[in-house]
Amino acid sequence: MSAQTGTDQPSTRDLLALYRPDLERAIAEAGHPSYRYAQVYQHLMRKPGSPLSEATNLPSDLREALDPFGHSTLVEQRKWEDADGTTKTLLAAGDGALIEAVVMRYERRSTACLSSQVGCSLGCTFCSTGAMGYVRDLTAAEIVDQVHHLQALLAPEDRSISNIVFMGMGEPLLNLDAVLTAIRLLKDPEGMAFAQRALSVSTIGIPSGIRRLAHEEPQVNLAISLHAVDEKLRTQLVPANRRFPLSEVLSAADDHFTITRRKLFVEYVLLGGVNDSTRHAIALAELLRGRVVTVNLIPCNPVRGGSEPPPGEVAAAFRDTLVQRGLNATLRTGRGRAILAGCGQLATKSQAAKKGIRNRGPGR
Ligand code: SF4
Repeated sequence: MSAQTGTDQPSTRDLLALYRPDLERAIAEAGHPSYRYAQVYQHLMRKPGSPLSEATNLPSDLREALDPFGHSTLVEQRKWEDADGTTKTLLAAGDGALIEAVVMRYERRSTACLSSQVGCSLGCTFCSTGAMGYVRDLTAAEIVDQVHHLQALLAPEDRSISNIVFMGMGEPLLNLDAVLTAIRLLKDPEGMAFAQRALSVSTIGIPSGIRRLAHEEPQVNLAISLHAVDEKLRTQLVPANRRFPLSEVLSAADDHFTITRRKLFVEYVLLGGVNDSTRHAIALAELLRGRVVTVNLIPCNPVRGGSEPPPGEVAAAFRDTLVQRGLNATLRTGRGRAILAGCGQLATKSQAAKKGIRNRGPGR
């Protein structure tokens, strides 16, 4: 079976070729035996941040030959720390494209928030990444290397990443080949061995992508960013709703449940005076009635010219209305706001500057 279809385990050489085809080619050209592929792959996956010159299980000529390729496709440019335990890193790809990745430390877990694209084409009105516009898709290696950088950052604290969300810059289901390859690399037992249920893909709702994710990675969590129940209001907030109306998104979510039997997560950004009234909460509860779902309410992070978050009591009342109607609902506290690492705040500065916007922090 090929490494692309996701049910059988691909060989280590297949995985190295998916992750770093440049290194796979270099080993082949150097004429080393097949077990060297596994050693290189395991060094890269299990020792994030450690150059190949330090892979002492490799012969010195191979170490020297591979070292110039580097151990990551990304180079850290800067990082910001928030007192709430959030760190944001600015990473540069080989072509100079800039992306941000975030880690949030909790008492018993550390969650990595990954970018899947440079910028985003979907232009949600509350999102700084959307204001950047689309630059390009990330490769699978650039997605996985964000995890490596965040793991290396946590290692001195005796912590490691426990959960991963594709919720940073970009729409993951519009770069699904690379995201699925990255998921295969992240869950590979010979590599980083993340539990599939520790991985979540958050989408604005691309119906074909939701169904493909269900078939290819049924254990990975799906989160849909709903933000409004009314098609007209949702189109104002999420212009992609014109192409992918809520009714079709929910139909795809229902198919996802039929295939996976996994609970759906619904993300709902609370925008003060826009979608945060009791009427909106009742409509949301009605829409989701009968579905196996948890609603995560996220008070918006202010972005220039955009909405303010509702007062705390309004947000709590919204949650209570959902709970009273039998829904599982949580109200998130804003993380990483001080360093512009919160939901809707990610936008890389130099690319944003070309578009005339300020750095306001990834994705949805
Ligand atoms: S919220 Fe997500 S889909 Fe919308 S513009 Fe931002 S990154 Fe793109």
